[in-house]
Amino acid sequence: MRADTSTTETGAAEVIARGCVRPIKTSTGIWVRCGSRIKSSCGSCAELYRGDWASIARSGVFDGPVQNYRFYLLTLTAPSFGAVHRVPRSETKAAPVCGCGVQHLVQDAGLRGVPLRPSSYDYAGQAAWNRDAGLLWDRTRRRLRDRWDSVEYFIVREWQDRGVLHVHVLVRIERSEAPDAAVLRDAARSAVAFSKIDGARVEWGAQAKCDAFRADGDGAKTIWYLSKALNYVMKDVVHQGETVHPRVWSHLLALEHAARAMRCAPDCEPEFCRGRVHERYGARSQVVSASRRTKRRPGWSFTGLTRTVQRRLRLEWFLANVEASAAAAHPAEKVEAVEGRSLRVRRELAPCAAAVP
Ligand SMILES: [Zn+2]
Ligand SMILES: [Zn+2]
Ligand SMILES: [Zn+2]
Repeated sequence: MRADTSTTETGAAEVIARGCVRPIKTSTGIWVRCGSRIKSSCGSCAELYRGDWASIARSGVFDGPVQNYRFYLLTLTAPSFGAVHRVPRSETKAAPVCGCGVQHLVQDAGLRGVPLRPSSYDYAGQAAWNRDAGLLWDRTRRRLRDRWDSVEYFIVREWQDRGVLHVHVLVRIERSEAPDAAVLRDAARSAVAFSKIDGARVEWGAQAKCDAFRADGDGAKTIWYLSKALNYVMKDVVHQGETVHPRVWSHLLALEHAARAMRCAPDCEPEFCRGRVHERYGARSQVVSASRRTKRRPGWSFTGLTRTVQRRLRLEWFLANVEASAAAAHPAEKVEAVEGRSLRVRRELAPCAAAVP
C-alpha cells in the first residue's frame, strides 16, 4: 500500500468505516485502529479489547473439567482516606443518610465521591495506595496460594468515584481444598504489603465481598458475574469523557497534585519524573490480568490462552497477511480484529513511543 494522499485517505476511511473513530497511521504507512480500551475514546476498539479479555476469562470458567473446581467472585476495596458524600446511582434504592446529614438524591451526582472535608482528606495516602495496589494484590494472591495451592485468578481493576482503585477477581480453586466464600474473603482482605517506596503498610479496606458460583448447572449466573466484572474494563479512567461537576473536578485535581508530588519509585524525583503513574492518580497496574501457566500450574485459562498467545498469533498473521487481505477485501471483521491487536503489540513493545490511553 503506497502512502500517497489518496490511498492514505482511503485507508483511514476504511478503518473509520469499520467503527474506529480515530485511526492511527503506522510507521509502515498502514492505517489501523486506535486500539483504545476506553469506551469514551473509541467504543469500537474498546469492544475489541473487552472481547480479547472476555475470551480469556471464559476459558478459565468453561473450557476445563469444571466439576473439579469451585469458582468465586471476590471484590476488594481500598481503605478510607476520609469520609465522602454518598449519592445513590438510581432512584429505586433508598439512599443511606450521608455523613453530611443529608439523604442525597440522584440529582446530587456532583457530590458523589467528593470528600466531606477536603481540607483534611488524605490525598497523599490515597495516591500512594493506588501506586502500591499492585504490590498489595501480589501479596494477596501469594497469601491465598499459601492456603490453597490450586488458586488461579482473573482480576479486573476499576475506579471508584473517589478516585481510588478497587478490584473484582474471579477465583478458581480445586474442589478438594475449596473453602467457604467467607473464609476466602477474609483471607484476601487481611493481606498486607509494605510499600517498596516509602515502607508504609498497605492494606485493603473493610468492605470486601465474596460469592461462590458454579460453572456447571448455573451457567447463566456465571455469565452474569463475568460480564459484570468485565464491563468495568470499559471505564478505566475516572470520569473520562463525562461532564465533570466542579466539586468532583477540584477533588480529582487535588488527587492529581498528590500523585504528582509523590515518588513513583525509590529513586524518583517527582519534579522531573515523567512516569505515567503521576498522571493516573498514582495507578500503575494493568486494568485486567490473569494468572499465568507455569511448569506446575495450569494458569487461569484451561486452554493456555493468554494475551501473549493472542498477540503472537495475530501479529504473525498481521505481518504476513493484512495488506493482502485488505487489498483482496477479506471479511472486514477478521482484518479489524487483527490490526487492532497488532497495533497494541507494537505500542506495548515500545511503551515510550506514544501516550495513547
Ligand atoms: Zn479506535
Ligand atoms: Zn453528603
Ligand atoms: Zn516518578
